[in-house]
Amino acid sequence: MILGIDLGTTYSAVAAVTGPGGPTVLPNRLGELTTPSVVRFTSAGEVIVGTAARDALAFDQDNTVALVKRQMGTEFDMRFHGTTHTPESVSALILRSLVDAAGVHLGHDGDVRAVVTVPAYFGIREREATYQAARLAGIEVLELLSEPVAAALHYGCTPAARAGDAVLVYDLGGGTFDTTVLRVDADDVRVVATDGDSKLGGADWDERLTDYLIESFIRGAGEPTDEDAFTARTAAATEGIKRALSSRTVHRAVLRDGDASVTVELDRATMRELGADLVARTLAITRRCLESARGKGVHGVDQVVLVGGATRMPAIAEAVQAEFGLKPQIVDPDLAVVLGAARRAHEIASTGRATARSVVPRSFGVLIDDSHDPAGGTAIVHVVHHNEPLPARASIRLATIVNHQRRVRVQVYEQAGDIPSTATTDNRRVLDGILEGLPELPAASPIDLEIGVDTDGLLSVSAVEPRSGNTLTLRAYVDGVVDNAASGRLETTINGLAIGY
Ligand code: AMP
Repeated sequence: MILGIDLGTTYSAVAAVTGPGGPTVLPNRLGELTTPSVVRFTSAGEVIVGTAARDALAFDQDNTVALVKRQMGTEFDMRFHGTTHTPESVSALILRSLVDAAGVHLGHDGDVRAVVTVPAYFGIREREATYQAARLAGIEVLELLSEPVAAALHYGCTPAARAGDAVLVYDLGGGTFDTTVLRVDADDVRVVATDGDSKLGGADWDERLTDYLIESFIRGAGEPTDEDAFTARTAAATEGIKRALSSRTVHRAVLRDGDASVTVELDRATMRELGADLVARTLAITRRCLESARGKGVHGVDQVVLVGGATRMPAIAEAVQAEFGLKPQIVDPDLAVVLGAARRAHEIASTGRATARSVVPRSFGVLIDDSHDPAGGTAIVHVVHHNEPLPARASIRLATIVNHQRRVRVQVYEQAGDIPSTATTDNRRVLDGILEGLPELPAASPIDLEIGVDTDGLLSVSAVEPRSGNTLTLRAYVDGVVDNAASGRLETTINGLAIGY
């Protein structure tokens, strides 16, 4: 089975190319195209994944996990019915549920190979955790693909069709906003700059609309008898009203409380006004992202594509077009990522291209003090580079700064953004140590530094003073990478669980 999988914060989905017509989304056992990324541990031997689990958040919070994607790449142990789980194992259960449904749908129960999507801003820890989750679910990962790149593929922004174009991907989901500038090169689609707000999404519009409806009710009929119950009822109806206003220009909502009832006439203008400042925030972030792309040589974009269910609100396309002067494309925005992933999986499987896990996901380097800079400037010099095949190993010759220097501090940094940058603020420190006991040496004496990244996520660094042979060795499994013993234990845990829906 060759699949594309969108492992989302709130929803996940799976798709495959099943015929000449391109990819299709495979429904889950309930017939839904997307599955809530929620897992409920009902007993020591059973879990439920999806809509029923999400509904259980209201009454069985202690045994139910939502939004686990936000914990990927962190140490975040959870215990259910006496067993320890991690973000990787919980994600693996979601993945396995998707794959099971896909298998039923396609009448297939053999090997599973998939392209799994990850946010553009995921670093090595988060990517490794996602990779481990897939492995725990029995999936061979063809590639961990950036979500905006997957979306761009869905919109036909491929090297074959649009080489040379710059594409703006505006992705407004339920709870997060991501904006990315991509460049379509001759051989691949690359992320140039990415930005976003992890707490801005369709749910904010729901909240605004709920408040508006409650205020309208109070103006018409006074305070409701049971405020909490009334608020909960109104909130439950809000999302449907919001969606209705995406396809209709007016909508009449009837709010009831006991004998009192108030009819609220809603139109698109109201909806637009309620969310005006939220839209403005997305545009400001997008401008910032375009500015950052400009700094990387991409001036202006040729296409704008919309991704995420909340971009179905007509106000979004209007605002984006007014701001950037291009008519945005919007086709299946909530399924764009999974459809693009399926397209990529099909392409990799049919061309037999090497799996992408075999490359360094982020550049690694060392902090250098610039001895020629009187202001004491520092920079990160990358030694092992993004996209080099794993295992990767490279060295660099550095130098001491002052005469008789006895110690050298070695600070190893990982590229934090999408694009390697020498600015310290664009990198994240992952290791720190001191090479001590240097002999009496003149300034500018050599220090050899080597950085390696292994296929299992082990980062190793050595710094050697060649005359004395003094060596400093630093090693770390990058946080969030499950070691093989832990991975084996989790695999047993997962295999022992029946997955329901
Ligand atoms: P996603 O995470 O991409 O599935 O986006 C989910 C968000 O999209 C939720 O906030 C939904 O309420 C919103 N959404 C889905 N369909 C529509 C629609 N037709 N109109 C407005 N918002 C929608």
